[in-house]
Amino acid sequence: MNPLIPADRVVVIGAGPAGLTAARELTKAGLRPLVVEKRASVGGLARTEVFKGFRFDMGGHRFFTKVEEVKKIWREVLGQDFLQRPRLSRIYYNRRFFYYPLRLLDTLLKLGPWLAATIVLSYLRWQVFPHPREDTFEQWVTNRFGRRLFRIFFKTYTEKVWGIPCSELRAEWAAQRIKDLSLKTALLNMLVRPRTTIRTLIEEFEYPRLGPGMMWQAVADEIQLDQGVLRLNSDVVSVRRTGCRIDGVVIRSDGQEELLEGSHFISSMPVTELVAKLSPPAPAEVRDAAAKLVYRDFLTVCLIVNTPHLFPDNWIYVHSPEVRVGRIQNFKNWSPDMVPDAGKTSLGLEYFCTENDSLWNMPDAELVELGKRELERIGLARAADVADGCVFRTDKAYPVYDAGYRECLDTVRVFVDGLENLQTIGRNGLHRYNNQDHAMLTGLLAVRNLLLGQQNDLWSINTDQDYHEQLSEEAEVAPEELARILEAGLTRIFVKLDRVALGLSVGAVGGLALFLATLFVVLGGGPLVRPALSLLGQYFPGYEVTASGTLVGLAYGFVAGFMGGWSFAFLRNTCLFLWMAALHRRANFQLLRRFLEFI
Ligand SMILES: Cc1cc2nc3c(=O)[nH]c(=O)nc-3n(C[C@H](O)[C@H](O)[C@H](O)COP(=O)(O)OP(=O)(O)OC[C@H]3O[C@@H](n4cnc5c(N)ncnc54)[C@H](O)[C@@H]3O)c2cc1C
Repeated sequence: MNPLIPADRVVVIGAGPAGLTAARELTKAGLRPLVVEKRASVGGLARTEVFKGFRFDMGGHRFFTKVEEVKKIWREVLGQDFLQRPRLSRIYYNRRFFYYPLRLLDTLLKLGPWLAATIVLSYLRWQVFPHPREDTFEQWVTNRFGRRLFRIFFKTYTEKVWGIPCSELRAEWAAQRIKDLSLKTALLNMLVRPRTTIRTLIEEFEYPRLGPGMMWQAVADEIQLDQGVLRLNSDVVSVRRTGCRIDGVVIRSDGQEELLEGSHFISSMPVTELVAKLSPPAPAEVRDAAAKLVYRDFLTVCLIVNTPHLFPDNWIYVHSPEVRVGRIQNFKNWSPDMVPDAGKTSLGLEYFCTENDSLWNMPDAELVELGKRELERIGLARAADVADGCVFRTDKAYPVYDAGYRECLDTVRVFVDGLENLQTIGRNGLHRYNNQDHAMLTGLLAVRNLLLGQQNDLWSINTDQDYHEQLSEEAEVAPEELARILEAGLTRIFVKLDRVALGLSVGAVGGLALFLATLFVVLGGGPLVRPALSLLGQYFPGYEVTASGTLVGLAYGFVAGFMGGWSFAFLRNTCLFLWMAALHRRANFQLLRRFLEFI
């Protein structure tokens, strides 16, 4: 990518967090980017919709990052309007609410003794006879936690989110997310800094006073103040190219098409769409690969309830299969300013679906009725208390990591990287399960590639960093380094004992000791020792304190010492193994307690 010259015009596609961050960075460098956005408002997936003065996130958006540059932007943009909020979330299952992240005692007490016992039995059964293969999400979780726990806390919610049975969801998805959290680091935390890690994310988070939309509207205002141009309601319908160079984009606005030319392009629209809209078209294999990348969509039924307080949570995960709603947000608990009337409460009922399926196509009025019914069924509010409602649909909310996505994405990536004056950024631009901060980071780095000729690889920015960064802050040394030191220390202290070697050495010492002691007495020494040694004859038949007894003693001493040494090594190795296994299991549980955070 050639660095910019002052006369260049950069076109940014999409006014979500990634596109707006890139445009802001360009204006800070004195350029005047043109941002085109198909919606009527900014913020993308992180927008805040307003209905009758009540504000609704499209999925509650916590602001959490360890990327310093991102933190700095958030503070610069919103200052005092950036709040620190306490977090409470629970799981609704079987007419009960369980704290989330799960608390062992709370969970077992609420499940009751019978269910708790079957969970333990099921866990043991799957430890002894696990699935021989772990191809699916179901097999993966069952092998670690037993079928009972899988059914209660993983199955229904995961199926609601992804829309496919857990027996069809690939195990790599779970394995990747758990691996990303690093089992090694979890073990480390249990041993070195129990209870402190991820505390921030679990107990509190940052949030703009008027929701994430407030942040992105403020950024859009800043860009325009600095002479950048923002065109809303402008859908990019075609991306014109000559060979590997993009010449311009055609936007459709108010039914009119218009060609917008530029010298450089930064696109945060879904990479599938980017490829599909190229003119002339991309090669067939690239188009096929792009078309195979899939997404999961969702819609929010927004309800205004005539009650000042309904429940204390920021959000509730709804695992119960008898209702279709997946998660319920209580926006007042995110920020009191989200509601204009303190006597009312605004809820966002999130339904995961696929564009054009029955739920997606259901008329808004029916969806509002469904939401009211399910709210009452769960017992959170009476349908009669719901004053009003509306629906917002969000397409391409989750890039899906299915079995074939990696290969398809690689094909798309090679082609897109070959377009010399275009960079693709953001969550759907890179088909990565990124949060706002990493989407923003891709925008920042794309601009640095442009302005400074840097070679940042945008495809490698991802969610893993959150947790590593979080851990680095709390540990004085980097977690990976600490883990390495700890592992080396543990290996040295707890090195596995060789049973035969220890048996032979203790046997040799034992045999020699008895031989020398017997010889010492036979040669006339130690009258006090003789009776004690003679007693050994009761345990070692044929042994006596005589010249020939020295050799019998040597043999007995060796055998007894060998058995003692061997047994000690065996017991010590077994205890060590059990301890390590328990530690490993606890760490695994710790990770899975927080699993829903990553969906
Ligand atoms: C339910 C849910 C909960 C989430 N919770 C959190 C959270 O708690 N914390 C967090 O940090 N992140 C969260 N995220 C992730 C966050 O929303 C995304 O990481 C972020 O919005 C990605 O920004 P982006 O700019 O890459 O993409 P987007 O937000 O998708 O923005 C892309 C923009 O491009 C526009 N566009 C698309 N096609 C065209 C076109 N043809 N022409 C013109 N414009 C186009 C879109 O309208 C959109 O405005 C959540 C996401 C979801 C779905």
